[in-house]
Amino acid sequence: MSEKKILIVSGTHGNELNPVWAVKKFKNLISKSPKSKFLEFTIGNPKSLEEGLRYIDVDLNRSFNVLKTSSNQKFYEINRADYLINKYGCQGSEPCPIVVDLHTTTSGMGTSIVMYGRRQRDFCLAAILQSKFGLPIYLHEKDKNQTGFLVEAWPCGLVIEIGPVAQNHYDSEITERFLIILNFLGDLISNLKNNRISLPNEISFFVHQNSIDYPRNENYDIKALIHPLRINNDWKGIDEGEPLFLDINDNVHTYKEKEIIYPLFIGEAAYREKNIAMSFTKKEILKCDQEWINGFLSFLNL
Ligand SMILES: [Zn+2]
Repeated sequence: MSEKKILIVSGTHGNELNPVWAVKKFKNLISKSPKSKFLEFTIGNPKSLEEGLRYIDVDLNRSFNVLKTSSNQKFYEINRADYLINKYGCQGSEPCPIVVDLHTTTSGMGTSIVMYGRRQRDFCLAAILQSKFGLPIYLHEKDKNQTGFLVEAWPCGLVIEIGPVAQNHYDSEITERFLIILNFLGDLISNLKNNRISLPNEISFFVHQNSIDYPRNENYDIKALIHPLRINNDWKGIDEGEPLFLDINDNVHTYKEKEIIYPLFIGEAAYREKNIAMSFTKKEILKCDQEWINGFLSFLNL
């Protein structure tokens, strides 16, 4: 059986160039080192990368649970999702138990982790990364409008999301941040094998509640922009009365609920087509169980 344990995906969105560059550089750096032993690499959406587009027909990162129908069976991404699962999925020809999918965002999120659902293995991996790098975690769950994410098609998987960076723009500060994570992942399996990794006492994360759209007029045109006080303030809590949007007449639209909320993906360019101006989250803390590591080791046959 293949020794590859972690599949690194870059270019799942073809207009996010920095993860692709970082992987290229990393592969060069590690070609003769043991770091390459447990890692496999693939480009998620090569055709859209060539075109500089997020996707060709549909968003690949929403296509991993889509039933094939006569209307979508020719869609490039629907078939690409099948190809990736058939190659690298559990039952695939070159199976990898863990997937790490690298993305960038135009919002000021910094370096962060995105989890989908509450799988113990994902918590284990996320806790390891959080304790090493202090990264904030967005737990995306219970969102009926958004499903079919790539990492959900593997038994364990996370997204690394870094921003802000414009689409189709190379930024070496962003690529270097990906390299730090890639380096850590390159050593992770041997460190786990040799019991060099323990879990922190707890993991903290921001749980998805709902997403909000831009205010719109009767023609459904956007009628207010993200308020300047919200820009680059992802992960920061807001209370009732704090500004969200600013319209053309300088009217401020405020947050109206009583409960403190933490907005993320504020103004993400790719989400305008999904009618999302930002997503609201609540903070949660979970005690880590050292047993998670044992479960993780046996899952990986280590
Ligand atoms: Zn992306």
